[in-house]
Amino acid sequence: MDINVKHSWKAIVGLSSRGYTCGYCNRPLASEKGWHSNNSGFIYVCHHCTRPTFFDFHGEQIPGVMHGNPVGDITDKSVSALYDEARSTTQANAYTATVLCCRKLLMHVAVSKGAKLGESFAFYVTYLAEKNFVPPDAMGWIDHIRKKGNEANHEITIMKKDDAEELLSFTEMLLRIIYEFPAMVAKKYQQGQQGKGKTT
Ligand SMILES: [Zn+2]
Repeated sequence: MDINVKHSWKAIVGLSSRGYTCGYCNRPLASEKGWHSNNSGFIYVCHHCTRPTFFDFHGEQIPGVMHGNPVGDITDKSVSALYDEARSTTQANAYTATVLCCRKLLMHVAVSKGAKLGESFAFYVTYLAEKNFVPPDAMGWIDHIRKKGNEANHEITIMKKDDAEELLSFTEMLLRIIYEFPAMVAKKYQQGQQGKGKTT
């Protein structure tokens, strides 16, 4: 879906103003344009990206807001795809899927950093911490995530919003440390070198 395409809706009407964060463009807004139904709810149109969001009479929003933030310079395509997938599951309130995506992603990252294949989730989280990919102050968090991951792999545990958002935030932090910050430093260094080349 191209988010840059702007829609011009026909027969749009005025509604009472509703504040929300748009699930498409992730921007907060107050909209008073859209449509209403007598028996199901409302559709509001975002004035930033012009996309429609449905609200039922209980206030449930579809699509919901995507948790987490984009991370730049992820060189591994499967890591990048899994991270996007993990974020988009939060939009659908599919929190067990979020946790499963993050676990798979963290295992993949640990293996790409030299961990053995076929170990448990807890093993890989410990591995990333022991190899100093996680800042020392985040060790309390690591313990928490490791305990969550200790639940048997074969057992189906339905995850809650908090579990999913915690693991996704942890994943985001780790991806920033492993991919985004080193790439940023490398770019700065390169710019510095080019700058030097020009003056000498
Ligand atoms: Zn929008």
